[in-house]
Amino acid sequence: MREELSNLIQLQQIDDELMELEMELGDLPQQVEKLHTTLDEGKHAVEEYERESKENVIKRNQLELEIDSLNEQLTKYKEQLFLVQTNREYDAINTEIDTVQDGINERENQVLELYSREEELTELLEELHRTQITASEEFKEKDEDLKNKLEETEGEKLHLQHQREKLVVRLKKPVYNHYERIRKARDGKGVAYVYTSACGGCFSTIPPQRLVEIENMSDFIFCETCGRILVMNPDNIIS
Ligand SMILES: [Zn+2]
Repeated sequence: MREELSNLIQLQQIDDELMELEMELGDLPQQVEKLHTTLDEGKHAVEEYERESKENVIKRNQLELEIDSLNEQLTKYKEQLFLVQTNREYDAINTEIDTVQDGINERENQVLELYSREEELTELLEELHRTQITASEEFKEKDEDLKNKLEETEGEKLHLQHQREKLVVRLKKPVYNHYERIRKARDGKGVAYVYTSACGGCFSTIPPQRLVEIENMSDFIFCETCGRILVMNPDNIIS
């Protein structure tokens, strides 16, 4: 039992060191990930705007051709007006002229709308290009920083993970499972040292009888409040 408890204490120490290594990275991994997403979204938006812009030019050219052809029709109808013999013919041609004119007006409005959208798209694209350049520079810098930091600690991390594996195989599965469950739920601590008759994890008072059991290391004693496995601080045991 004593050996199992001492393995657990060592496991917690290794997990503390692993957690410290992770904390040294700060929020750098999240920053890199976020910049990556920003760049991806930006690239997608640029593609979308460029596609819309191309389609607009095609639409606009098509409308301008239609306007030219309608203007030709309009000229012909106006010439015909001078040749008509009856009021009925005159009214009929005027109706045609109105229809053609409406068609021209409608297309001219569409052309204007397309022009203004094109201006908007040009501005949006310029703005996007600027933010993409900034994000890309920032990404490169932070990504390199992260890779360097990971490289620096890689050896230590592998060493700790190897030591951890060796300890884990020596622990009974239910004990390890309990430790892991509590560690993940309680800020990375599955084992808590006793501090002045209280659980060092949650500071609940430990009954005297339990304190004796903890000191004897004869059984697993769990904190009744937080569930952590209670042990004496190994530094105190030695001294
Ligand atoms: Zn506790």
